[in-house]
Amino acid sequence: MYSVKQSGRDGHKLYAFGADTALEQISMASRLRKTLDRGSGLVLHYQPLVNLESGQLVGAEALIRWQDGKRGLTPPDDFIPLAERTGLIGSISDWVIQAACRQASAWRDIGLDLYVSINLPPSYCQPTGMNHLLATANAAGIALDRLVIEVTESALTHASWQAIEPKLAELRKRGLKLAIDDFGTGHSSLGRLDKSWVSILKIDRSFVKDLPDDDHARALVSSVVHLAHSLGLEPIAEGIETERQRHFLLQHGCRVGQGSLFSPPVTAAEIETLCTANDPLARKSA
Ligand code: C2E
Ligand code: MG
Ligand code: MG
Repeated sequence: MYSVKQSGRDGHKLYAFGADTALEQISMASRLRKTLDRGSGLVLHYQPLVNLESGQLVGAEALIRWQDGKRGLTPPDDFIPLAERTGLIGSISDWVIQAACRQASAWRDIGLDLYVSINLPPSYCQPTGMNHLLATANAAGIALDRLVIEVTESALTHASWQAIEPKLAELRKRGLKLAIDDFGTGHSSLGRLDKSWVSILKIDRSFVKDLPDDDHARALVSSVVHLAHSLGLEPIAEGIETERQRHFLLQHGCRVGQGSLFSPPVTAAEIETLCTANDPLARKSA
């Protein structure tokens, strides 16, 4: 029924055994669309980005969740791919940018010196998307050096990418940083890592996970850190869960990271508590 309605009502379709997943996807897409129309039900959590030596927060990555009436608080991996397939990702990204800029502005107003890192899908990396980001940051009174945008390597091979490079280089000069997320897990040409528009390489947590005992992980992580430094980029490690991982990363010159060792993604209010607590996050884990 949902499938027929989706394709314009007044029709019929045969139900095939095993189509439940497809129907659930259609039903989810319809609920997600209603959430966007309603303007409530999406929420950003923030994961601290931490100076690995001192434990001080330097920034926070905005990570979306969806409060779905049927499934409860739903993580991004369960609905972002669907949003990409159904074209809802553009509106979701507009919402994320607006919410993250407002939060950055609120933190600045209470004296918290944090940048906010925003995940954007490859399809958003076009001049119109970047102009929207610029306009939203301006409206929120946020300087571009308070923002980072994270794109995966697949964005670099997206059809629209070449058209965006000059725009990104212009925004880079104005302070906006661009991070390549999950670096090492996708397809990209190293030749595209031009520091006129890339600033950060985020080392995927699948590599960090096996540190420091696994030879392969050690070789990969130290090579990516070295590569980043050689190209004038900043390495940031994801998924740091143990003190030994933190030591390895520091020893190899990676100074910033995130992970459950410090804090999982939390609400904006909890970020404020973490920033004003006497104990730096590093000491929690000691
Ligand atoms: P990501 O950008 O690589 O974000 C890091 C993910 O790793 C987050 O999962 C975070 O909760 C998780 N993580 C961080 N530290 C640890 C750790 O120590 N251990 C473990 N096991 N996990 C850790 P999350 O929040 O479920 O997000 C998953 C992915 O969804 C993100 O990966 C990002 O690609 C995407 N995403 C999140 N928010 C947005 C958004 O606003 N827009 C778009 N387009 N994608 C988003
Ligand atoms: Mg990310
Ligand atoms: Mg990542």
